[in-house]
Amino acid sequence: MPDYRDFDSLNVLTIIEGTLVNESPLRIGVGGEPPLGSSVDMVMYRVNGSPCIPGSSLKGALRSLAESLAKSKGIAVHDPWDDDAAKKEEEGGDFCAICGIFGNTRLSSHVRIYDSTPKDPRETKTFYKYGIAIDRDFGSVRSGLGPFVEEFVEPGVKWHFRMDILNIEVLPEPKEGDLRASIIKELLKMMREPGLQVGARKSVGAGLIKLKEAKWRTYRLENGRLKLSCEGALYE
Ligand SMILES: [Zn+2]
Repeated sequence: MPDYRDFDSLNVLTIIEGTLVNESPLRIGVGGEPPLGSSVDMVMYRVNGSPCIPGSSLKGALRSLAESLAKSKGIAVHDPWDDDAAKKEEEGGDFCAICGIFGNTRLSSHVRIYDSTPKDPRETKTFYKYGIAIDRDFGSVRSGLGPFVEEFVEPGVKWHFRMDILNIEVLPEPKEGDLRASIIKELLKMMREPGLQVGARKSVGAGLIKLKEAKWRTYRLENGRLKLSCEGALYE
């Protein structure tokens, strides 16, 4: 059974770098959806003054996508924060493929996803949208609660993307018998089409991002050093 605790040495490392584009307005706020009736302005998450898609948001979106992929293959999945499931996996030395990729409360992640920043920060425009607090029970506008303002990034912004894959052979070819490798390969395909949804207001189509182009480099451990073994483009 797969025991993915293999961090004593880094044998293979794949670095993927490319360009993400948000095809719909994007909002990644500090603290998610605005509370019902909040009059606080919901600003876009920023780093050094520039809108930023946190690596943790991308990773979360990829994990849910991987979970639905696994489910469609008849593989049981559990909540990422389910510590009982993580404990059972740790004690048995037998981890599910999803934790084997993204980690759990007791296993480190085999993928690292970096914060995505705009390729051209000065051309990255945002806009504000007014929202009105709707009563969840009755669907009516609640009186006495002011409208709130949300900041979105305009569609069409190009973002830097970087993901590292540690000790999983995905590229050039997914290792046979390693379910994680085929799941990651599938995820990379899905990032191109239909894309991923990140941030708030997903139910109205906000936050759709696609990986437009990407290059990969795979390094292997040789005589105690990581050496570039092969490289290529993800989408020909
Ligand atoms: Zn698991």
